[in-house]
Amino acid sequence: MPQSEPSKENQRRTFLLKAGYGAVAAGIASLVPSITGSEARAQNQSSGMIAPEKKVGWAIVGLGKFATQQLMPSFSQCKKSKLVALVSGDAEKAKKYATEYGIAEKNTYNYQNYDNLRNNPEVDVIYIVLPNSMHAEYTVRGAQAGKHIMCEKPMATSVEDCEKMIDACKKANKKLMIAYRAQYEPYNLKAIEMAREGKLGKLRLITSEHGRHLKPEEPSDKWRAQKKMAGGGSLMDIGIYSLQAARYITGEEPEEVMAMIYSDPKDPRFKEVEDRVNFMLRFPSGVQANLSSGYSYHETKRFSVFGTDARLDLDPATDYYEHNMHVATKDAEEQRKIKEDNQFSLEIDHMSECILENKQPKTPGEEGLRDIRLMMAIYESARKGAPVKV
Ligand code: NDP
Repeated sequence: MPQSEPSKENQRRTFLLKAGYGAVAAGIASLVPSITGSEARAQNQSSGMIAPEKKVGWAIVGLGKFATQQLMPSFSQCKKSKLVALVSGDAEKAKKYATEYGIAEKNTYNYQNYDNLRNNPEVDVIYIVLPNSMHAEYTVRGAQAGKHIMCEKPMATSVEDCEKMIDACKKANKKLMIAYRAQYEPYNLKAIEMAREGKLGKLRLITSEHGRHLKPEEPSDKWRAQKKMAGGGSLMDIGIYSLQAARYITGEEPEEVMAMIYSDPKDPRFKEVEDRVNFMLRFPSGVQANLSSGYSYHETKRFSVFGTDARLDLDPATDYYEHNMHVATKDAEEQRKIKEDNQFSLEIDHMSECILENKQPKTPGEEGLRDIRLMMAIYESARKGAPVKV
């Protein structure tokens, strides 16, 4: 890239600053570290319409890339939620972030004393941001400690684990939400509205591709290359966005899936987890979906919705901060602009609202379980080389 050309991160940062996302921009690659700590804390305390003492208290478990770069800075834009506790296996890191976010040292925990959260009345909800295979254990222990649970996608690495998580939260009379951020993001919500209200005509086809390069040399991808920790490869990690898109655009559940998987046997990254997954879904209304995910191609996060009267493209569709909507009809092609918003704050506040008003989250555990069942059927179809009814 020529020196004069801004990097993608800098373009994003400029966009965020223009859009008033100072604190969120602070979370990106620590470009402006001075904003993450005290300013974020100050905004955290002053941003809400609800008095700070009425905000729902959150604990974050697993201080990795996503939690520290996206989620924690986003609390400054929450109106109903405040970050009050941290759980980490790295005491030094927990201390550093506790200081930055104005969290009392007594509110930092590790994986051994995690269950002591039960004695902390400041914490209402626990947000699990751990490697996939750890979601189930920490959800069950969290619910048993009397806390509501928000869990990252994919919900777990098996159907049985998802069921255990749902049962534990029901038994404890606590809410369980899966953090499907795209279902709280304005561009995706607009696409859902247009598709379901017939603005594209009768729906015929959905395509969606999610891809990137797996880099096991980086800490956040090391566990993703291990089947035991990740549960699977590109499908479990990012193919889930393609699957979700087809489900939330149609509002239907597929009846049949068919899949093909390919990983280069010479590529050491794919010794345990799969690279490319192509899968098709057929929905009851007759809509079909051609979906894919991959760990060995250029970053892609998009979907297209084909109706009898129009085609809608969202590209990127599931990025953190930038989305582009293009709509083509027989008369015109146009870019649609919608106000961007911080999807992380929106989803976190949604859970807080559900707790405050005793409502069921829009994306509960059952929604996560559906995806895990479908992904298991996708793997089964690829193994058998035949369609699988679901
Ligand atoms: P990271 O590896 O960056 O973070 C995971 C953290 O979990 C680690 O930093 C560590 O935190 C903790 N941990 C505890 N035990 C282990 C272990 N044995 N191996 C590795 N880490 C361990 O991963 P990500 O932040 O990228 O992903 C975490 C979760 O969030 C995943 O489920 C992923 O699917 C999801 N995610 C969701 C995204 C979305 O857009 N919704 C985007 C990215 C990720 P500590 O040192 O504090 O103990």
